[in-house]
Amino acid sequence: MEICRTIDDVRQAVQAKRMEGNRISFVPTMGALHEGHLSLIRLATEDAETVVVSIYVNPTQFSPDEDFDTYPRDLDSDIEKCRKEGVEIIFAPEHDEIYTEKKYLSIGIESINSSMCGASRPGFFEGVLLIVNKLFNIVKPDSAVFGQKDIQQFQIISRMVQEFNHDIRMIMGPIVRANDGLALSSRNQYLNEEERQAAPGLYRTLRYMKEQILNGVKTPSLLIEHQESELEAKGLKIDYLNVFSMQTLQPVKHVENNGKYIVAGAVYAGNTRLIDNLLIEL
Ligand code: AMP
Repeated sequence: MEICRTIDDVRQAVQAKRMEGNRISFVPTMGALHEGHLSLIRLATEDAETVVVSIYVNPTQFSPDEDFDTYPRDLDSDIEKCRKEGVEIIFAPEHDEIYTEKKYLSIGIESINSSMCGASRPGFFEGVLLIVNKLFNIVKPDSAVFGQKDIQQFQIISRMVQEFNHDIRMIMGPIVRANDGLALSSRNQYLNEEERQAAPGLYRTLRYMKEQILNGVKTPSLLIEHQESELEAKGLKIDYLNVFSMQTLQPVKHVENNGKYIVAGAVYAGNTRLIDNLLIEL
């Protein structure tokens, strides 16, 4: 396995694998790898001969009041996990390698970031697109694997791939959960015992909402109101909870037959923000 710290090194490593006739699948991460990340690496392994994993805590997707400084970092353990999964190339760049001092350009997003996480985290998806666009241009993979856990991210990056003509196939990996249903996340490490106990409430709520909609509820507003109170009673603070159109990512008042929807929520357990979602096809 090659561990590359510079853009030149990773380009050379990828090029050498291409010369061997290998296809390249890419899994971008911010490290602190858990089973969710590893499941994406396994999907990438099924898709291509060479898997590239990037490990980089991207500063441009954190706002000043967020946890950039305290975000969990454990490069040695991440490297070992990647080695066990048969990853051939790790790209773990230093900050200066990625961002030069002054930047003159940014990527703008219209409407598909005005709801869900985009509404609560201004600038977040612009930061995500900036880094993913750079990484795609550096690694130039055949495919890239992202988790359904961050469904809005997946949809926005897919738009970028389409609109900016990246020749990359997007693969979505299912959400990996703990036994009690909590979606795995690097940030789950922040939860104290009480918060950890309350945290799977979000998944239970989403499951209940999905079940009700599959059973014929067409107008979810009352359902949402009721479920918000249930979550609050468990000590979780609601950021958002709603049913969104899979295509526009906007909340819907009514669900229609043959429609595709995302039941999604974000809550705070203490200071830790948790997100989760389920997909519905009617
Ligand atoms: P992160 O390191 O949090 O930026 O996540 C890197 C990738 O892992 C993203 O594509 C996430 O959607 C994905 N991911 C994070 N948590 C999970 C999970 N529990 N199951 C599947 N994929 C996940």
